[in-house]
Amino acid sequence: MSGVIERYHSWIGLPEGRAISLSEGSTPLVHWDSWGHSNIFLKLEGLNPTGSFKDRGMTVAVTNALAEGAKAVICASTGNTAASAAAYAARARIPALVVVPQGRVTKEKTLQALAHGARFLTIEGNFDDALHAVRQSVQSIPWLALVNSVNPWRIRGQETGAYEVVDELGRPPEALVLPVGNAGNISAYAQGFRRYSGILPKMFGIQAAGASPLVQGHDIPNPETLASAIRIGKPASSASAKEAVAQSQGAFLSVSDEDILAAQKELAHGGIFVEPASAAAYAGLLRLRQDNRIAGGNIVVVLTGHGLKDGSTPNAWIDASTRLISAGELGEALHDMIGVAQHVAH
Ligand SMILES: *Cc1c(COP(=O)(O)O)cnc(C)c1O
Repeated sequence: MSGVIERYHSWIGLPEGRAISLSEGSTPLVHWDSWGHSNIFLKLEGLNPTGSFKDRGMTVAVTNALAEGAKAVICASTGNTAASAAAYAARARIPALVVVPQGRVTKEKTLQALAHGARFLTIEGNFDDALHAVRQSVQSIPWLALVNSVNPWRIRGQETGAYEVVDELGRPPEALVLPVGNAGNISAYAQGFRRYSGILPKMFGIQAAGASPLVQGHDIPNPETLASAIRIGKPASSASAKEAVAQSQGAFLSVSDEDILAAQKELAHGGIFVEPASAAAYAGLLRLRQDNRIAGGNIVVVLTGHGLKDGSTPNAWIDASTRLISAGELGEALHDMIGVAQHVAH
């Protein structure tokens, strides 16, 4: 399978040349459930090469950076941008510099970026501080390309998520539900639907309660949530996100960390394992259903990142389910488990 640059070349509009690609995109759109007159589809963005949707934008941003003569890329990151930038820079054989907030990036995402050879700079403060510092300092360094979602090529690449949804369903869905951190992805989907189909579905942007500047209408100086990928208090793309939500008569909603964990568990029990930020979108969908705001038609929930990227939340599940037995006890233990299975079946 080709990557998004090849698949949607004329829509992306990069000049001809070598594409830096890992065959990202073309992710599954799973029919999850039917609720009344609504069909719920889940877009599994965790199946991209580095396990998040960031790869759609990164292939385009790094390809463009290289074409413009950049010698290295840099980003501020809550983890997934770093992992993706590191992988695509490695593919392009140029260095990636990643600036991360101290103690705030999961071990798994750090491992990914390190494995691909990224150089880490850890700074005091949160993601918003890191992005601000990076934006300030890159201005004077022409050979260094900024690959955060403030780079319009990132947004252009991420539009391909919307193109794929339209191609797969044959038309735009009635509504799109996705998690919002720096608000680049919701802006990209809106722009993608508008450009590719001329129709903007209702856009529902879901934030974690402790990091919900777009719900509350003002910046949050110290955002807090266990969903580290959306722990952002000052979204860089808030203007375009607000515009998309207002124009489509959608909404920004917040969900608690408790709701996020419950949603993560519900998806996992249906065979789909996502990281907490992505589960926030599903928690948002459950809230919309509860409030009778699902009006029918196709509803697409964008599940942005894979569950294996965040080992901190499932530890509770692992600890609770570990029972050590001797080999001789296995028969009896299986017998107990069959009892449980029969109990569940009835
Ligand atoms: C980056 C990210 C988000 C938030 O996307 P924004 O474009 O920053 O709003 C949500 N979920 C995951 C898994 C992410 O990596």
